[in-house]
Amino acid sequence: MKFTQEHEELRRTVRQFVEKEINPHVKEWEAAGRFPIHEVFKKMGDLGLLGVTKPVEYGGMGLDYSYGMVMSEEMGTVHCGGVPLAVGVQTDMATPALARFGSDQLRRDYLAPAIAGDMVASIAVSEPQAGSDVAAVKTTAKKDGDDYVINGTKMWITNSPSADFFCLLANTSDDKPHINKSLIVVPKDAAGITVDKPLDKLGMRSSETAQVFFDNVRVPQRNLIGQEGMGFMMQMMQFQEERLFAASNSLKGMEHVINETIEYARERKVFGMSLLDNQTVHFRLAELQTEVEALRALTYRACDLYINGQDVLQLASMAKLKVGRLAREVADSCLQFWGGNGFMWDNPASQLYRDGRLGSIGGGADEIMLGIICKTMNTLPGKKK
Ligand SMILES: Cc1cc2nc3c(=O)[nH]c(=O)nc-3n(C[C@H](O)[C@H](O)[C@H](O)COP(=O)(O)OP(=O)(O)OC[C@H]3O[C@@H](n4cnc5c(N)ncnc54)[C@H](O)[C@@H]3O)c2cc1C
Repeated sequence: MKFTQEHEELRRTVRQFVEKEINPHVKEWEAAGRFPIHEVFKKMGDLGLLGVTKPVEYGGMGLDYSYGMVMSEEMGTVHCGGVPLAVGVQTDMATPALARFGSDQLRRDYLAPAIAGDMVASIAVSEPQAGSDVAAVKTTAKKDGDDYVINGTKMWITNSPSADFFCLLANTSDDKPHINKSLIVVPKDAAGITVDKPLDKLGMRSSETAQVFFDNVRVPQRNLIGQEGMGFMMQMMQFQEERLFAASNSLKGMEHVINETIEYARERKVFGMSLLDNQTVHFRLAELQTEVEALRALTYRACDLYINGQDVLQLASMAKLKVGRLAREVADSCLQFWGGNGFMWDNPASQLYRDGRLGSIGGGADEIMLGIICKTMNTLPGKKK
């Protein structure tokens, strides 16, 4: 992965934005359980940060995913996971399929405002009874005249309380589960949508998550993204960027916790010596930093191949698996070195402990990543070629 001056400029812009517009407010937003998403997104949209990889015709920068990865990595300098998660949903989870397969009209109506920061997007895939098993979603979109009529319930939908539209996965036929699904853009103000109160979460506190009910919701059939029946495939493709986002976005947050822990352990005196001078402490921190660098290399390699048009299913899944596990390791080990202070809510290690836990669950749990990796290794029982 070779970074150019343009990559570095993008890094600087994101970092400055985070330092000026986000980090000073993180404590307040975490305590409030929300952040002014429209205001923050508008400012990001004005800087072009919500459309780094999106087509120029719709207001994006038209750059390849290496720039998207740089953006995501720098968003990792935010001192919580909630705000970057909300941004990642907008840029890398709810809009990649729309940008790639949406009609011109659909992209003008929804993608362009999402890039400009005028609209907030949500991705509505998971349901109370279907998370890991995406093919099991029960929400239906049935044709009636020129419309789809949507019925179902979506669960744990990030950004939904403030969203302007959903990119929703629904069954559009009774065919086999992998070919009966479609992605449909559903405006939040359509009649029949109820967003429940935000869920009370362990971490990602500043990001709002809620259950959303669709009761005979009518949307025009022109809101279909791409071809009918291709929704599952498009969602699987969309997951690639989500997984690369998850991996790159966590690198700097883990390094921040490691660095803060080094500083604390250097100053903290235990049994008459600096805590950091215990070999078990400085060796462990060195090991964690090594793991972060290894994950960075894996993520960069996946991204490099991705921008060169290669299939990165295996590498992106490996990066996603690794980041979920490593975030837990870094958070747990560092928290331990902070002792009682690590158990306090505002501690950087405890923040990562809470926020990073989602990494092994959301967007495909560790076991789902292992299943995909096994498939690519041809080691799944009964599935050998
Ligand atoms: C904070 C938060 C935000 C989210 N945001 C969104 C969003 O914006 N949009 C959206 O659509 N969804 C969202 N989700 C949902 C998320 O993607 C799902 O929670 C996730 O896919 C796991 O699904 P599940 O919770 O139904 O777990 P289940 O499918 O019930 O699985 C439970 C556990 O079982 C294990 N497991 C699953 N399958 C296997 C297997 N084959 N072998 C062995 N073990 C297995 C895993 O450890 C898994 O964690 C969000 C979730 C959270 C918590």
